[in-house]
Amino acid sequence: MNLYSEVKYLKGIGPKRASLLSNLGINTVEDLITFFPRSYQDRTQIVSSDKIFFTGHYCVFGKITGAYEKNIARGLAIFCADVADDTGIISVKFFRKFNPYSKYDVFSTIRKQFVKDRYVYVYGTCEIQAGQKQISAEDYEFVENANDIPEFFKRLIPVYDLTAGITQKFLLSVIKNAVKNFSGFYPDILAGIESLKNKKFMPMQQAVKKIHYPQTESEAEFARQSFAMQEFLLLQIALQTAKNKIRRQNKIQKYEIKKTLLSAFKNRLTFEFTKAQKRVINEIFADMTSALSMNRMLMGDVGSGKTIVALSAILLAVENNYQAAIIAPTEILAEQHYLTFKNILKDINVNIALLTSSVLKSKKNREDILKSVADGTVNIIIGTHSVMEERVKFKNVSLLVVDEQHRFGVMQKVSALSKGLTPDILMMTATPIPRGLAMTIYGEMAVSVIDELPPMRTPVETVCSDEQNAYEKVLSEIKNGGQAYIVYPLVDESDKIELKSAVAEAEKLSQTAFKNVRVGLLHGKMKPKEKNEIMTDFKDKKFDVLIATTVIEVGIDVPNATMIVVQHADRFGLATLHQLRGRVGRGAKKSYCFLISDSKGQNAKQRLAIMTATTDGFKIASADLDMRGPGDFMGTSQHGFPEFKAGDIIKDIKLIELAKETAAAIISEDKELKMEKYEKLKTIFNGTGSHISKIIRVG
Ligand code: ADP
Ligand code: MG
Repeated sequence: MNLYSEVKYLKGIGPKRASLLSNLGINTVEDLITFFPRSYQDRTQIVSSDKIFFTGHYCVFGKITGAYEKNIARGLAIFCADVADDTGIISVKFFRKFNPYSKYDVFSTIRKQFVKDRYVYVYGTCEIQAGQKQISAEDYEFVENANDIPEFFKRLIPVYDLTAGITQKFLLSVIKNAVKNFSGFYPDILAGIESLKNKKFMPMQQAVKKIHYPQTESEAEFARQSFAMQEFLLLQIALQTAKNKIRRQNKIQKYEIKKTLLSAFKNRLTFEFTKAQKRVINEIFADMTSALSMNRMLMGDVGSGKTIVALSAILLAVENNYQAAIIAPTEILAEQHYLTFKNILKDINVNIALLTSSVLKSKKNREDILKSVADGTVNIIIGTHSVMEERVKFKNVSLLVVDEQHRFGVMQKVSALSKGLTPDILMMTATPIPRGLAMTIYGEMAVSVIDELPPMRTPVETVCSDEQNAYEKVLSEIKNGGQAYIVYPLVDESDKIELKSAVAEAEKLSQTAFKNVRVGLLHGKMKPKEKNEIMTDFKDKKFDVLIATTVIEVGIDVPNATMIVVQHADRFGLATLHQLRGRVGRGAKKSYCFLISDSKGQNAKQRLAIMTATTDGFKIASADLDMRGPGDFMGTSQHGFPEFKAGDIIKDIKLIELAKETAAAIISEDKELKMEKYEKLKTIFNGTGSHISKIIRVG
């Protein structure tokens, strides 16, 4: 028997159970030992019976003092064993249904086990009935002596996904055996790689064990990451040795960090860059100053400060006498960037132009702008996809920044913009969305992550609420000098579904709940110019409340807004809700997000629960992925997305980066893996049938 033998030959499994296990994707021994738990049950605390005051799950331990059984209803019997510890007695109960016409003895096993004077650990739900403590056993384990160390108690216990005919207990026991006998043979390649030594990843044999049987959650997580790192590294080596790889291209533009503009800009900022911002700026500058064109994705949660990172890159281009362009998904956002840039770069000698369809509408504007973009008078072009129109000619654009890239498919168009130069490309996104992920994994796109928010931010407090409470909170925030958004899913009531629409509601609310405050309205059917005016007015505090549709979803930055109310929150996906919430909590003041929904749907409830539980965009994206299932993940199954056992393509984005770099180094050193130190790696690559080889084939 080895790692790749079929599980049906393992003790206690056999052909019938093996076929059930295959429903869980478990066919080989390797599949079994890498069938990692979904979660862990905490059985570290063994509670003495005098410490149980409330109903709940507990682990208890004691010596059996007696047992009895009786029928408590027709067809229902109970078996009770009294278990004593130093502080009292607790009754362990088992309920069994039985057929009154059959002689089958439902308690035969339990009766044989629960005999007087044996020591037993029990996990289950405790209740106190008429002063008596009882526990309905969900799991138990006997030990010979009081001090013997139990196998499944006093520790974290893995919880596995199940399928019909396969119980938790069965999996616990067969996996335990298999891990004991086979984990020692699991191939480890990380240990042989010099550059990873200082990361101290766990050896795979140990990682496999620890993922199932960790001492603590953090040990489990480190073991998982170690295993994931090996998965990612193998995939990356496979990808990078593949023949049809797209490469970063040689470029003409050359940058030198002159600081003529960069220093002036830094001095104008009223805050310090965060550590994470400094790090990603360094990564971007390293790319830009290299001989190859940049192809980098900047990921950072909403409010993490991507804009000034982009501006740093833009100024590096401009101080080297090139043009730079930033492309935003909406006019409002382009306008906002324009104002931000204008403001920060005031007194600094650069020319900025806004290039959107509404700007291009007026003939005079159009001619002026197009001319100064073409002759190089304009250094920074801020726009929407209008920037990519045929009639827009640049003098020498060397850097393109694409903000919130997932809103439209700009990749190809962006490349077409090059017009001679091979521009450096920086994509920015708050949500690690599938397309972005696919690129980070497969493509030539490097990733920088801002994993830190500017200081003084408190997480946005998120609650599910009713309208009454929400509006009261809005009013109290306004009283404290804040401003609020109220967001609706629809623009008007042409939709037959009975939803509160922004237009109708703005009218109603400004006469009722908000009759003493100033209410503005913003929706997608307004003209761009109107929208901008409203947004600017809101920013200038001419309104207290802005009633809006999701046009505000992306990027809007009004740090004084401290409250957002989302109507019909169940209508929005997690990514949108997270973006919406990101409109507040952008200043030092504590902010609130009130979600209003009367949906009873399971899925909707789950989404809202996730929103109230975390403000971490990566966790939300990851939960989103979990909820939708990997098959729905942009049809990843069709794309042949690799199925990682431990790797999580969202959570582990930094590991993926490390794997990419490490793979690149290995390949540049020894493309054919001929060196002795890569022998193990080579064997793995030549093998078939293993999980690893499946990952590699996908690549
Ligand atoms: P996003 O990453 O969502 O695009 P922005 O770039 O709009 O975030 O930044 C959010 C807010 O945080 C802005 O008001 C910006 O001025 C501010 N900000 C950015 N970096 C810092 C920093 N290092 N310290 C304090 N505030 C910052
Ligand atoms: Mg932004």
